[in-house]
Amino acid sequence: MATVLLVEDDQMVRDALVRALRGQGHVVHPVGTALDALRQTAEHEPDLVILDLGLPDLDGAAALRMLRGHSDVPVIVATARGDEPSIVRLLNDGADDYVVKPFSSAQLAARMNALLRRSSRSSVGSSDPGELNVGELTISLTTRQAALAGRPLELSRREFDLLAYLAEHVGRVVSRRELVEAVWHEHPFVGHDQTIDVHMSWLRRKLGESASRPRYLRTVRGVGLKLVEPD
Ligand code: CA
Repeated sequence: MATVLLVEDDQMVRDALVRALRGQGHVVHPVGTALDALRQTAEHEPDLVILDLGLPDLDGAAALRMLRGHSDVPVIVATARGDEPSIVRLLNDGADDYVVKPFSSAQLAARMNALLRRSSRSSVGSSDPGELNVGELTISLTTRQAALAGRPLELSRREFDLLAYLAEHVGRVVSRRELVEAVWHEHPFVGHDQTIDVHMSWLRRKLGESASRPRYLRTVRGVGLKLVEPD
């Protein structure tokens, strides 16, 4: 998972985001000022920065430009202003993506994962750029092989696709409807819940877990499914 520098001066928002991001398995360094953010990017070399624009010491856009002076780290800005000129200016100042306040941790996670995926693909020296790692689980999108603690898993095509999709959205609850569209490439159909649940139980068995004793695969009642890094 990723090392994330979280720059947010509102303590309640910051604490909530720290919890959510750590819950997704990320290492989080929270700071409350732009100057701390600039110092920490140099010291910790995070994989990703989440930058609130309303900071007490420095205008967020100025902080972003200063950050860009010495780092190419992917940056997601959190802004209160979602109007197009503001967003265009932020992207021109070096933001890679943005969320408009108030935003959900699920939306932030989805944007982070997309950005981390793009940056890991472009990073030099990565042995398998299409590889996803969650705990001891390794999923290669290039070779379509999955392994748990180094032991290869024998998965059907659907089971692999299901696992890969959940791994790409690690920590986020994915609805069964979304899975039908993404993995089965079909519109949600009558009985799709059962189809997914059957595949999930096969997948669980192969991962050596069960619905009553889950590790990686979690069912969120009434909402959907998610893949998490086990405790
Ligand atoms: Ca703020």
